Amino acid sequence: MAYEGVDFYNIDELLTDEEVAIRDAVRGWVEDRVIPIIEEHAQAGTFPKHLAKEMGEMGLLGANLEGYGCPGLNNVSYGLICQELERGDSGIRSFASVQGSLVMFPIHAYGSEEQKNKWLPRLAAGEAIGCFGLTEPDHGSNPGGMITKAEDKGDHYLLNGAKMWITNGTLADVAVVWAKLDGKVHGFLVERGMEGFSAPEMKGKYSLRASVTSELVFDNVKLPKENLLPGTVGLGLKGPLSCLNNARYGIAWGALGAAQACFDSAKNYALERDQFGAPIARFQLVQNKLAWMLREITKGQLLAWRLGRMKDAGTMKHQQVSLAKMNNVDIAIQIARVARDIHGANGILGEYPIMRHAMNLESVFTYEGTHDIHNLVLGQWITGIQAFQ
Ligand SMILES: Cc1cc2nc3c(=O)[nH]c(=O)nc-3n(C[C@H](O)[C@H](O)[C@H](O)COP(=O)(O)OP(=O)(O)OC[C@H]3O[C@@H](n4cnc5c(N)ncnc54)[C@H](O)[C@@H]3O)c2cc1C
Repeated sequence: MAYEGVDFYNIDELLTDEEVAIRDAVRGWVEDRVIPIIEEHAQAGTFPKHLAKEMGEMGLLGANLEGYGCPGLNNVSYGLICQELERGDSGIRSFASVQGSLVMFPIHAYGSEEQKNKWLPRLAAGEAIGCFGLTEPDHGSNPGGMITKAEDKGDHYLLNGAKMWITNGTLADVAVVWAKLDGKVHGFLVERGMEGFSAPEMKGKYSLRASVTSELVFDNVKLPKENLLPGTVGLGLKGPLSCLNNARYGIAWGALGAAQACFDSAKNYALERDQFGAPIARFQLVQNKLAWMLREITKGQLLAWRLGRMKDAGTMKHQQVSLAKMNNVDIAIQIARVARDIHGANGILGEYPIMRHAMNLESVFTYEGTHDIHNLVLGQWITGIQAFQ
C-alpha cells in the first residue's frame, strides 16, 4: 500500500492546494529516490551526494527564500518539505536545512549583492554545497565563548581557530564561519581551497551516518575583506541565532517525518506479524502503543502547522520555535523506540527504517540547541529569569 502519511485530524484541510501539491511531490521523490538507497548509504557511512542537484531541481534548497534563483515558497511549504525529507532520513533533511537555513539564509539576509549573486543561485541549484561553522570543540551550547578569531590586517582578515561537528563540512564549497573580530561575533565566507583551510571528515558516528560531519580548521587563513558578511556587523550572537531559529523551525516539522515513518512501519508490522496464532495488532498492549504514537504525532502536527502560519504572518517568537523543536524531536525519539519494540528483534535490522531513525534522532535531539537548552529558553520566558549560567 502506498504511503499516505498520518492525518488523523484532517490537517490537509488546513493546507492550501499548493502546499499539498508540494508535500506530495516531495513525498514521491523521497519514495523513488531516497528510500531505495538510504539504508545502503547509512550502513556505508556515506552521503548520497548525487541527490544534491536533484533537490536543487525540485526547489528544495532555500525553498522559503525569495530571488537569486530561490523558489520563494511560504514557510508551511518549507516545513512540509522538511517533514517529507526526514521521513526518508534525518541526514537528507539535515543537508537541506544546513544548505537553506544555515548557509543561504545568512547570505540572503546579511550578504552583499556580490556575495548573494555569487553564491545563492548555485546553492539553490545544488551545484555548490555550503556548511555552517558555529560549534567548537569546547563551545557547543555556549557559542558565545568561541575562540575562533579574525584579525583585521588592513587589506585582509587573518582567521585562526577550529570548528567541530559541522554538517557538510568536507563537501562544502563555501563555509559560513562565525568568528570573533575585535571581541564580537561576525560571519565570514570561507571558500574551499583557501590556503590554511581544511575540513577533515569525522568518522565513527552511530548517528546521521548518511550525512557528512566534519571539523573545520583555520590556520592563518587570509580572508579577503569582501568575505565578511556585512550585515552581521553589530549583531553579535543574534546573527548565528537567527539562522538557527530558521533551521530549528524546519526540524520541528522534520522530526514528524521520522516519527510518521516509524509509526507506519510499526502499524504494518503489527498487522502482519503473527504470535500466539494471530497478528500482534490484536493485543491491547500493542494497540495502546500505536494509539499513543498517533496521539503524539497528531499533537506535533498541530504545533508545527500553527508555528508555520505564525512564521508566515511574521508573529512567531523564537521561544515558540524552541517548544516545537523540543517537543517534536522528543516525541519522535520516543516513537522510534516504541516502534523498535513492536518490531521485536526485526526492529534492529536495516530492513526496517526504525533503528536508523532512532539513531539519527539522537543527533537531532542534541543539535540546533539541545533539548534542555530549549527547556531553559522556555524557563526564561515563563519566569523572566535566565538560568543558562
Ligand atoms: C551530527 C551532528 C551535526 C551537527 N552539525 C552542526 C553544524 O552543522 N554546525 C554547527 O555549528 N554545529 C553542529 N553540531 C553541533 C551541535 O549544535 C552541538 O553538538 C550542540 O549545540 C551541543 O553542543 P555540545 O555537543 O558541545 O554539548 P554541550 O553544550 O557540552 O552539552 C552537553 C550536555 O550539557 C547540557 N548543558 C549544557 N549547558 C547547559 C546549561 N546551561 N544548563 C543545563 N544543561 C546544560 C546539554 O543540554 C547537554 O545535555 C552538530 C552536532 C551533531 C551531533
